[in-house]
Amino acid sequence: MPRIVAVPGTHDLLPPRSDAWERLHRIHREVAVRHGYRLADTPIFEFTDLFERGVGTGTDVVEKEMYTFVDPGGRSLTLRPEGTAGMVRACLSAGLLQQWRPLRLHYAGPMFRRERPQRGRYRQFHQVGIECIGERSPQLDVEVVEVGWRFLQALGLDGVSVQLNSLGDVADRSRYRAALVAYYDPHRPQLCPDCRRRLEVNPLRLLDCKRDATLAEAAPVVHEVLSQESASYFDEVLRGLRAADVPVAVNPRLVRGLDYYAHTAFEFWHRSMQGAQNALGGGGRYDGLAELLGYPPTPGVGYAFGVERLLLVLEDTGVVLAEAGDPTVVVCSVSDSAEQAETAAAVARRLRRAGTTAVLDVSARRLARKLELADRLAARLCLIVGDDEVRTRTVQLKRPGEPSRRLQLDTVEDEVIRAIGTTSKNR
Ligand code: AMP
Repeated sequence: MPRIVAVPGTHDLLPPRSDAWERLHRIHREVAVRHGYRLADTPIFEFTDLFERGVGTGTDVVEKEMYTFVDPGGRSLTLRPEGTAGMVRACLSAGLLQQWRPLRLHYAGPMFRRERPQRGRYRQFHQVGIECIGERSPQLDVEVVEVGWRFLQALGLDGVSVQLNSLGDVADRSRYRAALVAYYDPHRPQLCPDCRRRLEVNPLRLLDCKRDATLAEAAPVVHEVLSQESASYFDEVLRGLRAADVPVAVNPRLVRGLDYYAHTAFEFWHRSMQGAQNALGGGGRYDGLAELLGYPPTPGVGYAFGVERLLLVLEDTGVVLAEAGDPTVVVCSVSDSAEQAETAAAVARRLRRAGTTAVLDVSARRLARKLELADRLAARLCLIVGDDEVRTRTVQLKRPGEPSRRLQLDTVEDEVIRAIGTTSKNR
């Protein structure tokens, strides 16, 4: 029988990588919570309309990358390719903005895009993100970028730049679109087939094309068409980020892949990655999104980071992001006799009740091998139960590099806590 393997573009999360994964999520949550963001979660599949209207039909995501299927009830459903549209739908349909404004939310979860799998690009990937919904102020754009920056700092990641741009408001964008069409139109015959189509449906995306990059270099920049109001909004964001000590690089070519952005757009790049196609994360202001979904106009701003990409860069740059974990004690029997196993299990149970992480090894392996495996689990110490110990209601305490000593079973947890100095409860 052929072995069943994982679907290309998907990944299993296994130890030891899962330690870094957990720690990354914990750090993101802590940084977000410190800025007033609260947990939210939305379904992994939604009506296809949500993304067609919210993300935009002219985008690569909607045109080529969505996992869409018709369920037995005849409804078109899509595995979410991103988190913002669902988050806005969830908050507005629940009427939450009547109670809190702005709503500050953080989230984490899987996203799905049918892209060509390669390093840092998968079909199921994970994001951590925040959304700040219901108010429009340059200070909130500053806040969101700053939370992202503080998160990267808390991870211990160097070599990151914040790329920042303004996409203006609706009127600016239509002026910009017209300027791009006027610029690209004479070059139509040289454009790649994708770009020829983009010229019709989504001219801003022309700036993203790698094949026509030299043309993009000389293309008009959005700042030439920004209204006075949009330009001063952008200046205020820049000033705010300077005051927050967040270093930014203004990048007039940054347009972002999704349609719903207005005003501020940003990406976090790492020096080991090449440009926008490999951003660690990105986001922006999406004041027009709620209306596209059929809700009253509601401003918002947010970001999302790719978890796998962050972990790749952390690994590549040698940052160890292991979860500190609780001190672990391994409780071993000397043989696989039932009495020894039962006593060892009882000892482990006492330790756990006292707040210590205890792992049981009652296998038939040799004791020396058990101690080796305990070492691999980074156990602080081992407790050993043989026939003698069962008879005398004691256990042997063994620590690497020290002679073993005997403890009374009835007070074993106090002795262990004294020996390792701490438990998860009082850490
Ligand atoms: P986007 O919504 O496209 O700006 O994506 C935000 C972040 O999610 C990106 O900067 C990446 O880190 C991550 N990301 C997007 N698409 C993928 C993918 N196919 N595989 C892995 N990570 C992705």
